Amino acid sequence: MTIPGWLPVRPDLAAHAPYGAPQLDVPVRLNTNENPYPPSPRLVRAITDAVNGVAATLNRYPDREAFALRADLAGYLGHGLGPEQVWAANGSNEIIQQLLQAFGGPGRTAIGFEPSYSMHPIIARATGTGWISGSRDTDFGLDPGRAVTAIREHQPDVVFLTSPNNPTGTALPPGVIEAVCQAAPGMVVVDEAYAEFARDPAATALRLLPRYRRLVVARTMSKAFALAGARLGYLAADPAVISALLLVRLPYHLSAVTQAVARAAVAHAEELLATVAAIRCERDSLVAWLRGQGLAVADSDANFALFGEFADRHAVWQALLTAGVLVRETGPPGWLRVSIGTPEEVAAFRSALARVLAADLAGAAGPATGSLR
Ligand SMILES: *Cc1c(COP(=O)(O)O)cnc(C)c1O
Repeated sequence: MTIPGWLPVRPDLAAHAPYGAPQLDVPVRLNTNENPYPPSPRLVRAITDAVNGVAATLNRYPDREAFALRADLAGYLGHGLGPEQVWAANGSNEIIQQLLQAFGGPGRTAIGFEPSYSMHPIIARATGTGWISGSRDTDFGLDPGRAVTAIREHQPDVVFLTSPNNPTGTALPPGVIEAVCQAAPGMVVVDEAYAEFARDPAATALRLLPRYRRLVVARTMSKAFALAGARLGYLAADPAVISALLLVRLPYHLSAVTQAVARAAVAHAEELLATVAAIRCERDSLVAWLRGQGLAVADSDANFALFGEFADRHAVWQALLTAGVLVRETGPPGWLRVSIGTPEEVAAFRSALARVLAADLAGAAGPATGSLR
């Protein structure tokens, strides 16, 4: 529904569309990069026990600082981090919102290198932060010279780097992140929502935290941790950064239930992350299969693959949906993104796509080229 003229909504918001990945009830949902494996019976029991443990105290506000959870998350991250260097919120989207409330806002700007995560510019707009759209290379990588030139030109208050990037799946070499940290006049936020899926998990920006005080590394429990429904995101940064976030966070933003559930999940990290190896394998074989079909596929270090290019990607998306497979119509024109599901779900996607390619939709769809753009 468009916003009616009589409603005095902020004029800078009125013309825009809300975030809206379709939530459709189809057999195979491969459109929002969730982990396809539900919690094991053991973890379900741990979560219900944890909720039980706090249920009797829900008349009280939760720990405003979520200190125990932050200590658990610091232990999970390693790299010598302590709880005072970790902050948590309702999804990493709220982490990003708090960062832009504190370090962006009216009269300030943030830059991202697109195609990238669609929520960065949406949250920038909601917080009154000017958005600068930087660009990526044709293979969806980011050349350090290109990044540094854009930063020198625009002097943004906040730089977003997404690695592995969504929707392309491409990871940034640590050298690019360092070059950006050295050039940026303000904050550098590395969104590592997919870090656990990276082919080289040691390439995390966490390693750089001791050297760059205005660097923030954002993570989430929504993807590898298979906990999208619980809403838990977190960051690692200098303790001074977290002091700044306390100025904008709502008191008691993280419910006692959320904190308890997240702590139970972190305690079972090993079990949850065991699915990551299977998903990585499935991803690599799907990427090889897609390339075998003559399609272009971006290198992926995440739990999804961006593939194309189609003369009419919407027709392909619709044909897959008709076959019961929901993928995401996102990224540059001509490309589609598919999340890595269970082997059965991926098999369903493959056979649906093979049929679509064979039918060629009366010439409406098909690989436009055999290489990236
Ligand atoms: C999915 C995703 C997030 C996670 O959002 P949550 O609010 O934690 O569910 C953050 N950044 C990127 C790049 C993502 O793709």
